Amino acid sequence: MIVPGSAGAAPLSLKTDGATKTTTICPFCGVGCGQIAYTKGNELIHVEGDPDHPTSEGTLCSKGAALGQVTNNPRRLRQVMYRAPGSAKYESRSWDWALTRIAQRVKATRDASFQTKSGARTVNRTEAIACLGGAALDNEECYLLVKAMRMLGITYLEHQARI
Ligand code: SF4
Repeated sequence: MIVPGSAGAAPLSLKTDGATKTTTICPFCGVGCGQIAYTKGNELIHVEGDPDHPTSEGTLCSKGAALGQVTNNPRRLRQVMYRAPGSAKYESRSWDWALTRIAQRVKATRDASFQTKSGARTVNRTEAIACLGGAALDNEECYLLVKAMRMLGITYLEHQARI
């Protein structure tokens, strides 16, 4: 006879034991499903649907469920790849180089295209630059991005989910 509490199966051990749980949003599409990312140190070890998320309620499609394979992938690009105008090949560049180059191009384009008037109306805008947001941006990032783009006078603001 088995006395309750005296015997039982070996305790289940999971790969997520001892991992840090962080809630996040799937970066792949505009549905914005909730995910739980499990990390140990700097390593992502598991991703699953967040049952407390109001829209996805713990579910993920195959893309969202495979997010870990994108993060932990030896073929993942980890540096800027630049293809110069007219060139047939990509060259690696530093992030500092890329950010400086983007800032220079934005300033030059804005300076060359900025309109202060449209007829009698004051507009203070550029129609030569557009901004496309992505599903990986959360609410706070979208708020800051829109503020920054409006500050530059950019009126063409769109989001991946509407295209
Ligand atoms: S899990 Fe699938 S449906 Fe949900 S946001 Fe990610 S890609 Fe979109």
